[in-house]
Amino acid sequence: MAVRRFVKALVLVTAFSAAVSALPASATDKPAGPGQGRSPDAKAEPAVKRISLKHVRRVVLDPGHGGDNLGALGSAGIREKELCLDVARRAAAWLSARSDVEVLLTRERDVAVELRQRPRLANDWRADALISIHANAHEAGEASGMEVFFLAADASAEAARALVEREEGIRVADATGGLAWSVGGILSDMELAAQHQRSERLALALGEALKTVRPAARFRGVRQAPFGVLKEARMAAVVLEIGYVTHPEEAPQLTDPAVQDQFGRAMLKALVALDSQMAAQAQAQAQRPPPAKAKRPARGQ
Ligand SMILES: [Zn+2]
Repeated sequence: MAVRRFVKALVLVTAFSAAVSALPASATDKPAGPGQGRSPDAKAEPAVKRISLKHVRRVVLDPGHGGDNLGALGSAGIREKELCLDVARRAAAWLSARSDVEVLLTRERDVAVELRQRPRLANDWRADALISIHANAHEAGEASGMEVFFLAADASAEAARALVEREEGIRVADATGGLAWSVGGILSDMELAAQHQRSERLALALGEALKTVRPAARFRGVRQAPFGVLKEARMAAVVLEIGYVTHPEEAPQLTDPAVQDQFGRAMLKALVALDSQMAAQAQAQAQRPPPAKAKRPARGQ
């Protein structure tokens, strides 16, 4: 039974991977060409200059939930799984139109994708960055605002733990084990530290960009949390909470294509910052002396 289920999942995943791999450079349904976007920005910039990034060559956007995993349910019938997919598509179109970064999505339709499969797809595709997109919920509908997370070594913050448990349907207590949870055996300590620095850089830069791009929206901060989706990622990886689907004013804003474009704009700014940091890391790596060998005494001494 378990084997059958595994094989079925494997076939599904392989078919899905093949379908996505077969797509052209941009995984968006309709890459927004210059001037095609619906936002005022796109109209104001008929000839969009595409930014060229050297180190960030491929980005995976991961729309949370999907299929029978609905995610948070908000006001006016807004469902997180659909909202995340819309935002991912708009952001992918934005990035593809304005940079030479290749953008892939972990899901392009309303289908279920297993939690662990998401970072594994990003690993298989050798992505340089993974941005998992979610929307938050608050029982009383009072909370609002955007938030960015990168991986925490532990689940010390109670609020972060509750969020991870709600988002991923797992008990965090069962899934602790720090940064080396699953990539530890694959990456050296030095690689792991460099990757963690890149995730932190991406998270902080995305936070700064969101504050600039959406100054009127509330920004709750950059935090650390033990998200399962981040634990297996072998690249800069963050979770973006775009806002609260339960907030009566914020929720409808999130469905606005112009607002969804703003997330793409913020992501591009953040990826540019990540690219600079990766360039600095590469330079430091190149300048580092090779591992010291045991000194042999000079002849004649
Ligand atoms: Zn979610």
